[in-house]
Amino acid sequence: MLDSSEVNLMAQLPESVSIREVGPRDGLQNEEPIPTDAKVRLLDALSRTGVRRVEAVSFVHPKAIPQMADADEVWQRAEKVDGVRYSALVPNTRGAQRALAAGFTEIEVVVSASDTHNRRNVNRSTDESLDDIAELIDLLHGAGATAEVIVATSFGCPYEGDVDPRRVAAIVDRVARDGADRVAFGDTTGMGTPRRVRELVTAVRDRNAHLPVLLHFHNTRGTALANMLTAMELGVTEFDASVGGLGGCPYAPGASGNLATEEAVHMLHDMGVDTGIDLDALIEAAELAESLVGKKLPSGVLRAGPRTRLTPLPA
Ligand code: ZN
Repeated sequence: MLDSSEVNLMAQLPESVSIREVGPRDGLQNEEPIPTDAKVRLLDALSRTGVRRVEAVSFVHPKAIPQMADADEVWQRAEKVDGVRYSALVPNTRGAQRALAAGFTEIEVVVSASDTHNRRNVNRSTDESLDDIAELIDLLHGAGATAEVIVATSFGCPYEGDVDPRRVAAIVDRVARDGADRVAFGDTTGMGTPRRVRELVTAVRDRNAHLPVLLHFHNTRGTALANMLTAMELGVTEFDASVGGLGGCPYAPGASGNLATEEAVHMLHDMGVDTGIDLDALIEAAELAESLVGKKLPSGVLRAGPRTRLTPLPA
């Protein structure tokens, strides 16, 4: 059998991948609200897994998203572990000001590639949201923070169906011109396949090769790991994943299942790709997440354990 470094060379995969753990924000925002204490416990458990990036909270209107009403307190009480980069998501100027006041220096804003999905979310067209985002980028840069633009429904829209990769690439052109530090592509309702990943990443790279790209997959239709592997073959090294597969999307009927972090880590480590994450500690955090939300989470590695956990023979 080949050792994992030989496998890595054969497949031309990156040596390491940067996973951003989004369970505390994207995950919990799409589950029934849980107490502040529970959120802090989950954040702290995740911060100690060796993960290098965590999306900690979002600063949204508490009436719109009650799950994040205590974002300030959660963030204040959470342990900030050395070597972990924390980010927050904001929907508008008010949210950006709150995130900056809380001390965040990495901030994410969202626009949907699909007009219909964007209107359902924020009652504005994609172009109108892009105008707002241009102002937000200036505000964030003026305060010394970086701005990441997340393009939701990049691989398909639950209302409109297919989303043309050229439309997504044109959105990237616009936000790159407006100064975005990085872009992320969200497969909001799990419509992506390896073919679509290849088309989108290629379309974006053709025009904005310099811009850091992060991919956010949902496993709604079982393609998240295949999509991640395809993106890695194209040289993408930044991915979102959610502990236990926590979270879905409240605006997309039937959507569920962020890519589970431990499923990604389990596969990557066996292929010789480093993440910095301790898989056992991560599985413990997933067990904690499951107990805190009080329901079974979809992660296969959480159910079955890692492949290194052997079944004892009967005596
Ligand atoms: Zn998600």
